[in-house]
Amino acid sequence: MNIFIDGGVVVDSEKVLRDVAVVLEDNRIVFVGDREEAKRRFGRGYLRIDARNKVIMPGLINGHTHISMTLLRGYADDIALQEWLEKWIWPYEARMSPEDIELGALLGAVESLLSGVTTVCSMYHYNRLHNEASAALKVGLRMVMGVAMFYWDEEGSIKNVEDALRHWHGRGGLVRVSVSPHAPYTVSPGLWKAAEDIRRVWSIESGIPVTITSHVVEDWNEPSLVKERFNVDVPGGSIYKYLDDLGVLSRFFVAAHSIHMNDLDFEVAAKRGVNVIHNPVANLKLGMGIADIPKMLRYGINVGLGTDGPASNNSLDMFETMKVAALLHKGVYRDPTIMDAKSVFRMATLNNALALGYKDLGLIREGYLADIVILNYFSPNSIPIYDFYSHLVYVFKPFNVDTVIVNGDIVVEGGVFIKLDVNSLLERVSRRSRELALDVGGG
Ligand SMILES: [Zn+2]
Repeated sequence: MNIFIDGGVVVDSEKVLRDVAVVLEDNRIVFVGDREEAKRRFGRGYLRIDARNKVIMPGLINGHTHISMTLLRGYADDIALQEWLEKWIWPYEARMSPEDIELGALLGAVESLLSGVTTVCSMYHYNRLHNEASAALKVGLRMVMGVAMFYWDEEGSIKNVEDALRHWHGRGGLVRVSVSPHAPYTVSPGLWKAAEDIRRVWSIESGIPVTITSHVVEDWNEPSLVKERFNVDVPGGSIYKYLDDLGVLSRFFVAAHSIHMNDLDFEVAAKRGVNVIHNPVANLKLGMGIADIPKMLRYGINVGLGTDGPASNNSLDMFETMKVAALLHKGVYRDPTIMDAKSVFRMATLNNALALGYKDLGLIREGYLADIVILNYFSPNSIPIYDFYSHLVYVFKPFNVDTVIVNGDIVVEGGVFIKLDVNSLLERVSRRSRELALDVGGG
């Protein structure tokens, strides 16, 4: 579809342009700038969107989550990580069918789009027919689908990743597959090497970048867990050094969390150009600690933002995540000048795009993918407006989202999701999540 967005304020992490026009043709941005020039060049045959009193921004990107876990939202809270996983999360997940995975992801995709998120990087279990990407395609969400790999099923893990790459990588112009060794303590050294081999071969063969996405040093005792389980050395107590010695670190490596890093970790991660995704809400909720993001930035590490899964957040709201990320480190450092609003907004847009291997996403720029969110700022919660970056991080909520366009396709209009009947989806999820919970409880 060709779209003419007229009269709004363009805000991305590089610029603020007032009273301009943005023109989209098919799935690309073809013009950003003067309204009169836009009218002369693109006068007829375009769907017109009136953006007066509105912000036109690049769609937010959720750099790390597990969107199928909307089914487990609020199922188990205020419990320590290992008990939370072993007694609550894993028994529930063991009962989830491929159709349940797709159903949960469908709800997560709708929640994301309605809250201004146009790309999600999500890691979960894979099935060829029903998975997180099949859900994303049904509602027009851009997705990097991480296919989880574990040491207890190495053969199955490799088979799943290769199957996903064959059937889903590049699909619909919206999906990319990521190789997702779950974490250093659940992935053997051999499986790490196999994962990197697959990543490299498929990047070349498909011509579409493939990333490795994983959880790295979320827990403080990860080095000892790895040593004991795989009978290996973790040099200098550094998980990053251990991974580097396996040859898996590069600028295509995307590490969620990275809370418990020592100096050697920082050095190695920076040297290899690794990307870190910060998930402040989930880290706080599970009591895992606080990643030293200002230090990462000093080391020149590319940092993006994510929500993590709806079982540990319990929402997919990237506005909330931006605000918490900005506030948290000011408090830790007792310094209100660090993690300024513009830098945090950049993390949720351009930094995430670069981390996930996109060179044409995360900015409102000619030639870039047409993933655009239009926010209404003429609202009781957001008037007056002095500084747009400040509002994006400290003020706006998902209910300020008016229009969402992904790959040139309108999916949210006037704050309403137009791709499917949301009420019937809510009924299906309510029914099915209750059945699963009763099943786990033996009721
Ligand atoms: Zn996670």
